[in-house]
Amino acid sequence: MQSISYDRARDVNHAIELARQHGAKFIGGGTNLLDLYKSGIEQPLRLVDVSRLALSAIEELPDGGLRIGAMATNTAVGTDPLVRQRYRVLSEALLNGATTQLRNMATVGGNLLQRTRCHYFNDPAFAHCNKRDPGSGCDAIDGHNRMHAILGASEHCIATHPSDMAVALAALDALVHLQGPDGERQVPLVDFHRLPEDHPEQDTVIKPGELITAVELPAMPFARNSHYLKVRDRASYAFALVSVAVAVDLDGGAVRDVRIALGGVAHKPWRALGAEALLRSQAITPELLARAGEAAVHGAQPRKDNAFKIELAQRAVVRALQTVIRKNGGQV
Ligand SMILES: Cc1cc2nc3c(=O)[nH]c(=O)nc-3n(C[C@H](O)[C@H](O)[C@H](O)COP(=O)(O)OP(=O)(O)OC[C@H]3O[C@@H](n4cnc5c(N)ncnc54)[C@H](O)[C@@H]3O)c2cc1C
Repeated sequence: MQSISYDRARDVNHAIELARQHGAKFIGGGTNLLDLYKSGIEQPLRLVDVSRLALSAIEELPDGGLRIGAMATNTAVGTDPLVRQRYRVLSEALLNGATTQLRNMATVGGNLLQRTRCHYFNDPAFAHCNKRDPGSGCDAIDGHNRMHAILGASEHCIATHPSDMAVALAALDALVHLQGPDGERQVPLVDFHRLPEDHPEQDTVIKPGELITAVELPAMPFARNSHYLKVRDRASYAFALVSVAVAVDLDGGAVRDVRIALGGVAHKPWRALGAEALLRSQAITPELLARAGEAAVHGAQPRKDNAFKIELAQRAVVRALQTVIRKNGGQV
């Protein structure tokens, strides 16, 4: 096993400087990176521990939004009273992920950058994985691909993104705050993760040496009426086959506004803009919700083992919408 050097960053600038000088990798809770290191998939020579940077606060913004520090643990965010009250879908997504012990270690920054759970990626015994070894091929395409993508995949990769939290953040129009050698920038969460296209080895648009410092949630009063539905093989400790994050602004028996994002279906959290457009300003009927479910998976291309995900995702969208509507006194 290769030895690794380890530094604990004093502050953000120190972390960025260490990464710049030595090409080091940041480590948050280590719950994904260390697993990948142990299996030889990631081989960092130098680690910069950012988990103790003073970036764990969850702060109210003047407009009613929230700024969540990148080092806040998944538990801290999932159980935060303001998150529960204003962005229920985010709390539900986090508390449906992993286990208590893992959530106590895992950070917001690390959660966004966790790698796919595609078993062909995670097991080096499989020779062909363009994400692990660009240009080597994709064993998943003709392999056992029950868990894989039905939307936005490419001929080079059909992996899905595993994060529950990121799906809720996609629905909430979150912004990712980054700081790196070239300064600070913000990227909308929906543009932060990439589709695989010709470069599945690149999961996100983050640049070398950039640190995630925070996630910002804009004010969205109707996010109080939100829900995360995760469909999985076991009731706990399992990644999503399909998941749905919804927030609905109700106007009597109609939808004034809505946000819908899907997980477990693509290389990135999948924002269902077509379904949202279909629902906006419409009277709620069972037929409308069914059409929204269909629109959410428009263009889906199933593989040998995962055609079931299309109907599962349609039904999950309908059920998540029904749950929010009924909880708020609506009928459907
Ligand atoms: C058994 C098991 C079950 C799980 N189940 C689920 C589940 O159901 N749902 C789910 O969503 N997740 C699940 N997870 C994944 C878990 O959520 C992630 O492992 C965790 O969120 C990663 O956070 P971390 O802080 O430990 O990241 P780390 O492992 O420390 O880092 C992950 C990556 O992010 C980079 N990084 C970390 N912080 C920063 C930063 N601030 N800026 C830039 N780069 C950074 C690291 O360099 C590394 O590449 C599971 C994990 C395990 C082991």
